[in-house]
This record gives sequence, C-alpha cells and structure tokens, in this order.
Amino acid sequence: MALVFISKSDDPDEYTRQMQALMPELEVRVWPEAGETSEVDFALTWKAKPGVLAGFPNLKAISSLGFGVDHLFDDPTLPAEVPLVRLVEETLTGQMSEYAILGILRHHRMLEGYGVAQTAARWFREAPPDTGVTPVGLLGLGVTGADCASKAAGFGFPVRGWSRSPRALPGVECFHGPDGLEPMLAESRFLVCLLPLTPETRGIINARTLAALPRGAYVINAARGGHVVDADLLAALESGHIAGAMLDVFNQEPLPRDHPYWTHPKVTVTPHIAGLCVPRLMAPQIVDNVRRVREGRPLLNLVDRARGY
Ligand code: NAP
Repeated sequence: MALVFISKSDDPDEYTRQMQALMPELEVRVWPEAGETSEVDFALTWKAKPGVLAGFPNLKAISSLGFGVDHLFDDPTLPAEVPLVRLVEETLTGQMSEYAILGILRHHRMLEGYGVAQTAARWFREAPPDTGVTPVGLLGLGVTGADCASKAAGFGFPVRGWSRSPRALPGVECFHGPDGLEPMLAESRFLVCLLPLTPETRGIINARTLAALPRGAYVINAARGGHVVDADLLAALESGHIAGAMLDVFNQEPLPRDHPYWTHPKVTVTPHIAGLCVPRLMAPQIVDNVRRVREGRPLLNLVDRARGY
C-alpha cells in the first residue's frame, strides 16, 4: 500500500525524506502522479481539489497537513466513512502562542506609538498600562488556546476563555457555549481567535461581537480568515471602538494587493505564518498514524466529523 501526498504549498520531497527516514518501507506517491489509486491507503493533504480524495477507493485515513481541517470539509465529495486526522505538534503550538503574545505585548506596551515617535526623533514617554487589570479573552481553549491562555496568565494578564463545552483551566476564567460568548467578550481588552473554522464559528468576529468588546479593545486572529467579517472589523476600526488588529489569516490568501488591511494604520498583516508545519517535526506523527492504520490501532488526533474539528 502507499501514501499519497496532495499539496501545492508543501514540499513533497522533504516530507518524503523525513517520513522515509522513520519508515523506509513507506511508499510515497505525489499527486497527480498517484499511479494505481486502489493501492493507496493513506492520504496526506492540504487543500486537495474537490473530488480528488474520492478517487482513492481504499483509503483508510485522510490526514490534514496542518492543525486545521476546514479545507477537508470544503470538498462535498469527501469520502464519508474514512477517518480524518490532523497534525498537532508542540513546537507549532508554541509558535501560535508566541504570535498571540507578541501581538498582545506589542500593543499593550504601546510599541506602535513608540515607533511613530522614533520616526520623528521624539522622546515620548507614557506609563505602561497595568497588566493585572487588562483581561485577555481567548476564542478557543483547545490545543493552541490552552497553551496561549497559560502563557498570557504567566505574564500576569487576567485570562478569560471561551469554548464549546465547559472547560476548567488553572488561572483562566472559562465561559462556554453561545450564552457564554458575550459575557466573555464584555471585559476582554484583547481578543485572540484560536478557533477552528466551522459553520458555527464562521464570521464570529462581526459587528455584534466587536460591539460587545470594551471600547479600545485589540483583536488578534491567528485561526482562519473566515472567522472575521472584514467589513465589520474595518468599520469598528474606523469608529475607534476597536483600537487595532493583528491578522495572520484572511478570507482570501494571499491577501489581495488592493485589500484595505495592507495599508490600514491600525492593522498589522502577517502572511499566515503564526505557526508553520515543518516536515521534520510533523513526520513522526504522520508515520505513527500510517503504522496505526496498517496495524488496525486507534488513530492519533482524530477529527470529530459531526463537530467539524
Ligand atoms: P482545537 O484543539 O481543536 O481547539 C478548538 C477549540 O475551539 C476548542 O476549545 C473548542 O471547544 C473550541 N470551539 C470549537 N467550536 C466552537 C464553538 N462553536 N463555540 C465555542 N468554542 C468552539 O484547535 P487548535 O489546535 O487549538 O487550533 C485552532 C485553529 O487554529 C485550527 O483549527 C486552525 O484553523 C488554526 N491554526 C492556524 C495556524 C496559523 O498559522 N495561522 C496554525 C495552526 C492552527 P471544546 O474545547 O469544547 O472542544
């Protein structure tokens, strides 16, 4: 049996090298050179074109080449009975938290303002705000959200977090479900989105939720562009209700050259780099899951299709 690698944005040669270093007998085929499709039992994919996965009749597992799996559900022909798995890795989890903490600290310690002062050689000083009374709100308390929550708490920020089901995390005021969202937002000076993109979370950063944040709140989105209603965020920035935003992910990627975010004075744009999958770090769990498939053992990082993440 063989693994098929389907991705335009990841390096198939490096993934193959890293996976075969751990499992020399692993046969890797790179789409579209997939050979006899009935010989493929494992698909490793980032944004396969709709219909491609359905062309492999003997798949035993489909693995996303990232933490997110929303791209899999974009395919209406996604084979219904095949288990879906995702990658989860601690270096990348740490990178996601670093990104969020970077955005929080940079705004909290007024680095944007000091940058402007520096361009004018102006010696401008202001007392730093009080961290202990600056709540950070997290949308999502999963792998990345929980890590980020404990790191933000480590800096002394009061941390609030929102999840689908009830969670209990040390040092985090936890909210859950639709009714918990606005109470969580109400006091969050920073809002960090670390949710999966599902039908329930699409467009969750919108006029209503932004209005529920205190005036002057700062938004960080490291999850998916589809979480943000761009027109609503731009309007909230324009009105001054939202002080600024740091955005890593966008409704359209690459972000179109004429998009207002690029030149907006209150927006920091990064090109979907909050966390990046590196073949050397991801290969062990991919190979582990291939072995599990072939030995009939339970898979790691299984996706719940009904929840969509
Ligand atoms: P995860 O472990 O699956 O955690 C998801 C969290 O979101 C959980 O706490 C879950 O609640 C919560 N959630 C899901 N649907 C919800 C809903 N309808 N209402 C309230 N809470 C909801 O995900 P993760 O590994 O932390 O990753 C999160 C996302 O980050 C990924 O899906 C991916 O899109 C994105 N990401 C982006 C980058 C980048 O470079 N920008 C890199 C990696 C990941 P429960 O706890 O109740 O399940």
